[in-house]
Amino acid sequence: AKGAAMVTAVAYRLTEQARQIQQTMAEFRLSKAQLLEVKKRMRVEIERGLKKETHKEATVKMLPTFVRSTPDGTENGDFLALDLGGTNFRVLLVKIRSGKRRSVEMHNKIYAIPIEVMQGTGEELFDHIVHCISDFLDYMGMKSARLPLGFTFSFPCHQTSLDAGILVTWTKGFKATDCEGEDVVELLRDAIKRKEEFELDVVAIVNDTVGTMMTCAYEEPTCEVGLIAGTGSNACYMEETKNIEIVEGNEGRMCVNMEWGAFGDNGCLDDIRTQYDQAVDENSLNEGKQRYEKMCSGMYLGEIVRQILIDLTKRGYLFRGQISETLKTRGIFETKFLSQIESDRLALLQVRAILQQLGLDSTCDDSIIVKEVCGTVSRRAAQICGAGMAAVVDKIRENRGLDHLDITVGVDGTLYKLHPHFSRIFQQTVKELATKCDVNFLLSEDGSGKGAALITAVGCRQRELEAQ
Ligand code: BGC
Ligand code: MG
Repeated sequence: AKGAAMVTAVAYRLTEQARQIQQTMAEFRLSKAQLLEVKKRMRVEIERGLKKETHKEATVKMLPTFVRSTPDGTENGDFLALDLGGTNFRVLLVKIRSGKRRSVEMHNKIYAIPIEVMQGTGEELFDHIVHCISDFLDYMGMKSARLPLGFTFSFPCHQTSLDAGILVTWTKGFKATDCEGEDVVELLRDAIKRKEEFELDVVAIVNDTVGTMMTCAYEEPTCEVGLIAGTGSNACYMEETKNIEIVEGNEGRMCVNMEWGAFGDNGCLDDIRTQYDQAVDENSLNEGKQRYEKMCSGMYLGEIVRQILIDLTKRGYLFRGQISETLKTRGIFETKFLSQIESDRLALLQVRAILQQLGLDSTCDDSIIVKEVCGTVSRRAAQICGAGMAAVVDKIRENRGLDHLDITVGVDGTLYKLHPHFSRIFQQTVKELATKCDVNFLLSEDGSGKGAALITAVGCRQRELEAQ
């Protein structure tokens, strides 16, 4: 009888554990009604960003980019491009040829940005960037060329022209001083002057979403939306100029950099944010900011997972109740680990091996739970990101007075490209929440570099026209 009682007690503890874990996960499982609500709120914030009276206090900034059309194939020339703000910092040489046999040829080199430079002074950061450009020009044997340059700078910038962008706020892992509120094109030009080694013509500052859209539009003219689901999260699309009230003129369209990562910063997503989302926010470099991004981008998903695992361990449901030093370490679960853990082909034994690599001793049960936590967090990310996109495509459809819209979205980002389920769940969500739109998704090949060059080409042409 004693044995039976013990078995019952163990079984009870197990079901209680399962119940508690399911209860914790339930908060992350959003219903269709909740997702439709996210879509609706995104639409409200879009309007607030576009309208003159509400733009200042709006959280989703809807920043004008001064890109007024997608490429038409006549772009031509050799350009330098910089790509700052994603997983890697790169310098690129892009050769675009127009005409019957149009082509784009690229050479690039990846450079590290040490964390002390990302979070040091602005001058150090821009000196480092120029140092990398200098190295690249040596490497290509092009020191004396004075090429036009497009600067893909993947942070929110207030633009007043193609070649002026005031940094609104740093996001992701950056926090260099004396840059917010400054024109980053000027910061780059100043650093080039300080170096006194070469001259460059900085023609355009470009958000990575815009570069991605332009790159995809070069191949596929129906592409009028860009999406990044990577380290950070953001989207852009071609809006009617008349709707962008802070830009003069009523003719044609202009690409708006939505900066949707800041969605929720006014509290409008508080009902779906969990205690774990709050913990991630509190632990971040930019507390209170980029709340939507912190729920759906690669830099933070692993952190949400980590917060849940810490809590479950504290409550005694995981890792035998022992919180290891590893689990206390920020940033241990990078996107590539989450992607591995969630891979369908992976046996549980391999999940344990991955956790072991991270320094986490797990039982078989632990690894099942960890995998489920990862799956639940990334599913919610894909779904709320999909809800945001559904709002965008429906807005475009309404702009054009259509009952039905066919459109292509150009996509880039490590989360989208590496994760085994994110893209599928994202696409399915868009389909379910924007039933009047047929949305086609196109992966961009090196969107930041190519797109910056395409925009620079257009910028150069505009200059020539104005000079005539
Ligand atoms: C930035 C955006 C960028 C996105 C993707 C966000 O943190 O604010 O400007 O497009 O990350 O890189
Ligand atoms: Mg990138």
